[in-house]
Amino acid sequence: MKDCLFCRLAAGAGGPLLWENEDLSVFADINPAAKVHWLIVPKAHYENIIDLCSTEEGCELFRRFGEALPEIVAQAGLTESGFRLIVNCGRDGRQTVGHLHFHLLGGERLGVHV
Ligand code: 5GP
Ligand code: ZN
Repeated sequence: MKDCLFCRLAAGAGGPLLWENEDLSVFADINPAAKVHWLIVPKAHYENIIDLCSTEEGCELFRRFGEALPEIVAQAGLTESGFRLIVNCGRDGRQTVGHLHFHLLGGERLGVHV
């Protein structure tokens, strides 16, 4: 999608990626909320999780995301210690970037959230 920040970053325009495969790119959040704060971003443009899960192709990508997750978590060094995986959606979910992304947070004991 034209003029989408995360389309550009997922394509590697922001520098080397932390992890990637055919479907997904991973890079560090610019404003980390934890010691480890990675963003897992589909290379294809989906606006949010509902957009993704509304098509067969998107559901299939979601399944492949699940398949890739253990490897990404291992790369982040969070397999033993644990982590939080967050996807914000829409206004009340405080999604600020309109290209679907999963927050992977860890590396320290996280606070309790709503
Ligand atoms: P959201 O609120 O949409 O779930 O999360 C957007 C996230 O993207 C925020 O945590 C924010 O810090 C991060 N972010 C915004 N702009 C950039 C950027 O240019 N580069 C990187 N690496 N992260 C960004
Ligand atoms: Zn995009």
